[in-house]
This record gives sequence, C-alpha cells and structure tokens, in this order.
Amino acid sequence: MENKMYLALIIIGAPGSGKGTNATAIINKYNIAHISTGDILRDNVSNNTELGKKANDYMQKGALVPDELIICMVEQRINKSDCENGFLLDGFPRTIEQANALDKLLDSKAKSIDKVINLVVSEDELMGRLLKRGRADDNEETISNRLSVFTNQTSPVIEYYSKANKIINIDAVGDIEKISDDILNSI
Ligand code: AMP
Repeated sequence: MENKMYLALIIIGAPGSGKGTNATAIINKYNIAHISTGDILRDNVSNNTELGKKANDYMQKGALVPDELIICMVEQRINKSDCENGFLLDGFPRTIEQANALDKLLDSKAKSIDKVINLVVSEDELMGRLLKRGRADDNEETISNRLSVFTNQTSPVIEYYSKANKIINIDAVGDIEKISDDILNSI
C-alpha cells in the first residue's frame, strides 16, 4: 500500500501488547498521525481539563471511559489537519459502539478503515510486562481489570473487523525488530 493517498489504520491488542511501541514504526513509514486515546486522556488528566476530570476515575480503576466522551474526542482529533494523509488509531475503538461510530464518521468523509493490526500476546506474558512498566494504572488490581475489560468488551471489536476481512494477526512476542518488520510487511 505504498502509494495510497489516505491510510486509515488501527492497532489493537490487550494492554501491554506493545501498541505504542509498534505504532511509532508505522506512523514514521507512512507519515500519518498517531492517535492514542490513552495518551490524549492522560494529557487531559494532567492538565485538569473538564474531560480529564470526567475520565480520571475510570482510568484509575482500569474501566473504560464512557463511549460518548471518547467518540467526541476522536472525532475532533481526526478532523485536525495532521490527519490529511490518514491516521493510526491506538487504543480505539475498544467497544462495538465505538467501532460503529468510527465507521459512520469515516463514511461521512467517504473513507473507511483499511487494516486493523491485531497484536497477539498471551495473558501471562501481558501481566509480567505491565507489572514491569510502572505507569500510574499499572498495579495488579487495575491490570486484571483492564485485561478482563479487554476480553469482554474489546475482543468483540476484533471479531467485528475480522468479519470485515480487515484483521492482520501479528505474533507480538519475541524480537522487537522482527515484530515491527512483520507489521510493516503486512500493511
Ligand atoms: P491505554 O493507554 O490505551 O491503555 O488507555 C488507558 C486508559 O484510558 C484505559 O484503561 C481506559 O480507562 C482509558 N481509555 C483509553 N482509550 C479508551 C477508549 N477507546 N475507550 C474507553 N476508555 C479508553
């Protein structure tokens, strides 16, 4: 897909699967915007914005921030000028409602999602990685909650894109460079 003018990608995977790390290689190659909903929310929390105040409790518990807040936030972000070549969504959509809202939004711009990169990592490996990372929401209780939220609410999103033939499964354990090459070769 080297010559495509507009590339709309999603990177999906459980917490700790390496979405952020692998996102960097993709956005650099295709010169598209990186939209991490977790990063945008954390910025809002540190700047104590209205959105940050509403989102903070959910984030501390490892629960999902309500769909309407997230969808509105992503809509504003996708409309910014740095998305003119496209974007890589990281951490969104996490529910079927978000996936539907995204389809509608792109449809209104006569665009659609091209590919969804699914980073596959076992649950034991994830827990180990997250405990090492040490972010504010990386304590054992919050982590288990985030992992079960992923299984219950986000797995159906993978199924949704799988039915649409957009999923690329990547074995995301092992050598970091190999994982990133696998991803770039598959887009
Ligand atoms: P992340 O950095 O993607 O792991 O996100 C950190 C936290 O932000 C999550 O545990 C949620 O509380 C919240 N969050 C990020 N993205 C979303 C989303 N798409 N929907 C709902 N909550 C989100």
